[in-house]
Amino acid sequence: MEPRGTKRGAGKIEVAEPRNKVPRPAPSLPTDPALYSGPFPFYRRPSELGCFSLDAQRQYHGDARALRYYSPPPTNGQGPNFDLRDGYPDRYQPRDEEVQERLDHLLRWLLEHRGQLEGSPDWRPGAIVTWRGHLTKLLTTPYERQEGWQLAASRFQGTLYLSEVETPAARVQRLTRPPLLRELMYMGYKFEQYMCADKPGGSPDPSGEVNTNVAFCSVLRSRLGNHPLLFSGEVDCIDPQAPSTQPPTCYVELKTSKEMHSPGQWKSFYRHKLLKWWAQSFLPGVPNVIAGFRNPEGFVCSLKTFPTMEMFEYVRNDRDGWNPSVCMNFCAAFLSFAQNTVVQDDPRLVYLFSWEPGGPVTVSEHRDAPHAFLPTWYVEAMTQDLLSPPKTPSPKD
Ligand code: GDP
Ligand code: MG
Repeated sequence: MEPRGTKRGAGKIEVAEPRNKVPRPAPSLPTDPALYSGPFPFYRRPSELGCFSLDAQRQYHGDARALRYYSPPPTNGQGPNFDLRDGYPDRYQPRDEEVQERLDHLLRWLLEHRGQLEGSPDWRPGAIVTWRGHLTKLLTTPYERQEGWQLAASRFQGTLYLSEVETPAARVQRLTRPPLLRELMYMGYKFEQYMCADKPGGSPDPSGEVNTNVAFCSVLRSRLGNHPLLFSGEVDCIDPQAPSTQPPTCYVELKTSKEMHSPGQWKSFYRHKLLKWWAQSFLPGVPNVIAGFRNPEGFVCSLKTFPTMEMFEYVRNDRDGWNPSVCMNFCAAFLSFAQNTVVQDDPRLVYLFSWEPGGPVTVSEHRDAPHAFLPTWYVEAMTQDLLSPPKTPSPKD
């Protein structure tokens, strides 16, 4: 297509409009799966750069104190019999979901490790910093028919930061969450308690409280196409008996799902749930997802291991299945779209990318509150570094 305002030979001479007045259609990004099939893009094997923990009061610690150890029940003929409703609601301390943490914990880790990142290939200008969960949403977008999302983006010192914004619809859903759904959320965390010990070789203690403030987060480096990625994700546990003791390959993701009884129920599980499980674990390179299947009474009586790299096999020959290439190609296209949109380096300038099922990703521009998300403590500490002269070791050091 010819660029606007440059048409020649139309008979009469028109004064070209100033460049910035030429109306341009607002850029947007389509999400149809058919547009993103094609070869699987380059995805660097994720490697762990570090980790941090959040305690029962949601306080940050720059260590692995919240890491738990995979401790499945003995396989002595009988299956498990985990009552996932036990302790609800009296031994449940749910995290306060009104607190919007945005990227804060990850930024604290970055600040405390900036010395070790600078100069290493992980910290190239143009790197993307975000939560794993945000990337998971991008991966599943071409197949998502229910929930939209919003991602705020700012560029600062060359790095592109992506932080999710709760949509008005998601907020309404959260505030009107039916009691049964609240209990179902608890049951997922209760399953983790039945499957994890606090010490390697220890036994799970299901008599304690379930406190969802507690989290162990791995910080990883990867690259999708030409986009260097630095992201963090919550890890359920480490398998002390895993063939490789090297993170992230020793990590395990735990999930619960409804017991299935008909081929139709399994087919639907492969099409919808396995896609989400695959996206979440593939990104950080977590090799196995252990599923606990719960019966209508809320008891887990069977377990099944789903190797992340085998999940696609369940839908490979399904016309209505999902395709990992589509997920990754769309994510790469979105990251390019974001990189090309967020050009100005300014922590107070925010581009809000919005998506609703059935439509394209659209973008709007904002300044300062309420969308600016890089905290002053982070911006100032990072700016100080640039202003202060490089430290030269004194003879006394
Ligand atoms: P996930 O993949 O969706 O579980 O999310 P991540 O592993 O990327 O989690 C990143 C951070 O967000 C961790 O500190 C989690 O405890 C926190 N987190 C996970 N899910 C939610 C959520 O639904 N709401 C909020 N506010 N935080 C969450
Ligand atoms: Mg889990």
